[in-house]
Amino acid sequence: MNRRRFLFAVFAALLHRRSAAEGTRAERVVVIGAGAAGLGAAAELQRAGYSVLVIEARDRLGGRIFTDRSLGAPVDLGATWIQGRRGNPISELAARFGVEVAPATDYDDVALFDRGRPVDLEILARYESELQELLAELERYSRGLEEDVSIASGLAELLRDEELTPFEERLLAWFLETLALDAAASADERSLLYADDEGFGGGDHLFPGGYEQIVHGLARGLEVRRGERVRRIALRQGGVRVETDRASHDADRAVVTLPLGVLKASPGEGGVSFDPPLPEWKRRAISRLAMGTLDKVALRFPEVFWPAHDLLGNLDGAGGGLPVFLNLAPHLGAPILVAFSAGPGARRREERSDEAIAGETMEVLRTMAGEAIPAPERLVATRWHRDPFAGGSYSFVPVGARGEDYEALAEPVAGRLFFAGEATNRSYPATVHGAYLSGLREAKRIAALT
Ligand SMILES: Cc1cc2nc3c(=O)[nH]c(=O)nc-3n(C[C@H](O)[C@H](O)[C@H](O)COP(=O)(O)OP(=O)(O)OC[C@H]3O[C@@H](n4cnc5c(N)ncnc54)[C@H](O)[C@@H]3O)c2cc1C
Repeated sequence: MNRRRFLFAVFAALLHRRSAAEGTRAERVVVIGAGAAGLGAAAELQRAGYSVLVIEARDRLGGRIFTDRSLGAPVDLGATWIQGRRGNPISELAARFGVEVAPATDYDDVALFDRGRPVDLEILARYESELQELLAELERYSRGLEEDVSIASGLAELLRDEELTPFEERLLAWFLETLALDAAASADERSLLYADDEGFGGGDHLFPGGYEQIVHGLARGLEVRRGERVRRIALRQGGVRVETDRASHDADRAVVTLPLGVLKASPGEGGVSFDPPLPEWKRRAISRLAMGTLDKVALRFPEVFWPAHDLLGNLDGAGGGLPVFLNLAPHLGAPILVAFSAGPGARRREERSDEAIAGETMEVLRTMAGEAIPAPERLVATRWHRDPFAGGSYSFVPVGARGEDYEALAEPVAGRLFFAGEATNRSYPATVHGAYLSGLREAKRIAALT
């Protein structure tokens, strides 16, 4: 090698080393899970210069954000809405990625049926304000409680001396079912003391082209290993080892975004083992908080036969746990309805075949729209509770748990294991924005350490 070439080679090597040191931090972080929390954390860490690898068990990204196209149009089978558009970080992502956002869903724009007859909206409005007053009363009642009770027992106490007409009873049952859709849990399951969490204003907006557009925007430029299921997470001298069913990954730190339902499962049930086991305080919080179920049945018909409202509701559907249908026709230009069900009724439905689910969903629709409606051409039904990579739809606080349990879930372990995901966000649990913000929170926590 002549002298000039030698000097050039040394110079190039030095340059390479310097740019490597500037462009990356020496640390390597493994992020477990490619949902909103994991992708948010990974993108932020990579931006800050860490070497980041995301490991995802499914062969798709997004986790509980899942846009399905089997009905010939993008239908979201997981998260539907930006919940509260104003000030919501998901609105910012939508703007950054150029994703179209629909006008706010109008929850008052509901065609409600009772035993096949439309309910007069004026009657509904009158009861609506009474129901709101009942909720306010329930809130006051909860403040005087020394011990937690379920929302259902609190309501039963307040209504003890009320004589409800059969119509009012059906309306109350329907109203409670719609509340259950919000929490993915029934009033019997939910804590009264911890029933409220924070939210954004500005209405709920869905994505006509699918929520997955946000996922793809977040995942741009990240290295994600799909179809690799994490089995064991071990703390090692100065680092972490993440073992999957295919490989072993060593890193300085890991961000664990496993859903609460997966954290609850024992390794024998498909869960993940931790070595050493997670501290007692974290295990207690995992077992106290609960995973709720919200399922959808999406149906494509040959034509639109329903009235042009945002939502269709059925008081008779309440008993069967299908109280509300979302009309996607205006957004997709395709005759598609999505039925929602939550809580124990939804978990029971998950045991049934698609044919049985189609049968009972059509029974509810026929009581609303008449016997002559067409059969669906295609249907897709979710089973989030039985999904081994979710173990339910999202977290809620049952009687016996408390808000602080979310904080315990978020606490790092040994400065090496960091936890993100909707169930680690006490202010905004059960949402995409809560999951995403928790990912950013942990990325910042790591950056502050190194
Ligand atoms: C039906 C339904 C409707 C909803 N509606 C809304 C809504 O309208 N608006 C809203 O804001 N929120 C909604 N949500 C809630 C929202 O979807 C979630 O809170 C959020 O997507 C959770 O993100 P996450 O990153 O915490 O978890 P996830 O998205 O579940 O990500 C965790 C990831 O970890 C992966 N994983 C699991 N086990 C392993 C393993 N062993 N190894 C490797 N990877 C693993 C999973 O596959 C998943 O991709 C809804 C949820 C459901 C189910």
